[in-house]
Amino acid sequence: MVLSDVLARVEADSDKALEVLKEYCRFPTISAHKKAQPETAAFVRRLLAENGFEAREYPTEGGPNVVFGQMIVDERKPTLLMYQHYDVQPVDPLNEWKRDPFDPTMADGKFWGRGCGDTKGNLIMQLLAVQAWQRVEGRPPINLKFVVEGEEEVGSPHFASFVHANKEILKADGATIEGGDHLHEGTPKIELGCKGILYVEMVSRTASVDQHSSYAAIAPNPGWRLIHFLTTLRDANGRIKIPGWYEDARRPTARELRYLRASAFSADALKGFWGVKQFIGGENNFELLRRLIYSPTCTICGFVSGYIEEGTKTVNPAVAKAKIDFRLVPNMKKEKQLAKLRDHLKSKGFEDIELRPAPENLEAAAISLAARVVKAAIKGSVDAYGREPEVWPWSAGASAHGFFNEVVGVPSISGPGVSYDGSNYHAPNENIRLTDFIGGSKHMAAMFARM
Ligand SMILES: [Zn+2]
Repeated sequence: MVLSDVLARVEADSDKALEVLKEYCRFPTISAHKKAQPETAAFVRRLLAENGFEAREYPTEGGPNVVFGQMIVDERKPTLLMYQHYDVQPVDPLNEWKRDPFDPTMADGKFWGRGCGDTKGNLIMQLLAVQAWQRVEGRPPINLKFVVEGEEEVGSPHFASFVHANKEILKADGATIEGGDHLHEGTPKIELGCKGILYVEMVSRTASVDQHSSYAAIAPNPGWRLIHFLTTLRDANGRIKIPGWYEDARRPTARELRYLRASAFSADALKGFWGVKQFIGGENNFELLRRLIYSPTCTICGFVSGYIEEGTKTVNPAVAKAKIDFRLVPNMKKEKQLAKLRDHLKSKGFEDIELRPAPENLEAAAISLAARVVKAAIKGSVDAYGREPEVWPWSAGASAHGFFNEVVGVPSISGPGVSYDGSNYHAPNENIRLTDFIGGSKHMAAMFARM
């Protein structure tokens, strides 16, 4: 009875919450450019305080403030910690946006603006769930904590030290990380962890200055040099060729695969969103999903050398650079994989190529289906949507699960959330569907009651 009143309250108050989301999304908090971080942190702190949280900002050394807020309703009740980040990705290529990324609008049943899905919308959706409980019952049914950092999109370089220094305040019985997606047809999705990321810049320098390309018959070319090395990393089917690369990778369990087999994952829908003709790994949805989740990846994120402006320039360049990301599945540790990459570079005779690992700190991590926070999210989905969510053993992306599971000792999941598989994370025209915003908030409100 109470819960159905709370869920109705969420629905009734969602318009007001979306107005607050507009305000939040107007901050151009691009962490890669160190933009608007102090004012966005202050906005989040005020928002938490206005909603009854004891809230404060924690400075980090050399980084933006982390915002922490808590609402302890009863020490004997369980505590849920919600992690979010207030920063967003850069907006280029700007000319592909149909609307101003930092002047959010609502149209076609969707909310448009940078950060609405990743992940400003999730914080506002969660606060809507808190408010609904406050209006119906005076307070939420459990203790709640928020921790909101400002550098997730650049790999959380200062969050680790915050977590290590503040383990005590972060203690909880479960945590949700950012938010979950919905599938194209509206089924919510939760993920029990994330992949990790090893990001490496590779630089080939074969001369101190560029040369006339007529000397190419005798002068080395850094572009070719780097390409030759890159082709030793991965085959055409995506299999990584570095010796021992897969050794530690966690294997699927039968229960995990049962959930995946029941998944409504549709490769065709993704192909439609992205305009991709053919995926690597065949046509079968289950096989593609299994591959998406359990496969480590090696991706050329960018490659640059020489002249690519208009017209011709016959040059043999001195330098070539590539940015490569390796996504790692749980149990694969960044430092160990980097050592394998270095050994491989050496054994293939490419020691002249410089490896510059980025200071990113997100390790792969995942919890089991038996955790309390997982059960609460599954039951909450039945309350809010009338059906179980999709359950993925971990997400294909990197996130902060490792900090919580391993450093603080709080089992964490992703979800409930506000986005869907067409939300255009990190891309132009980021958007969320209003139905998912409301659904995510109901799911969250129900999950509070099920913890
Ligand atoms: Zn992101």
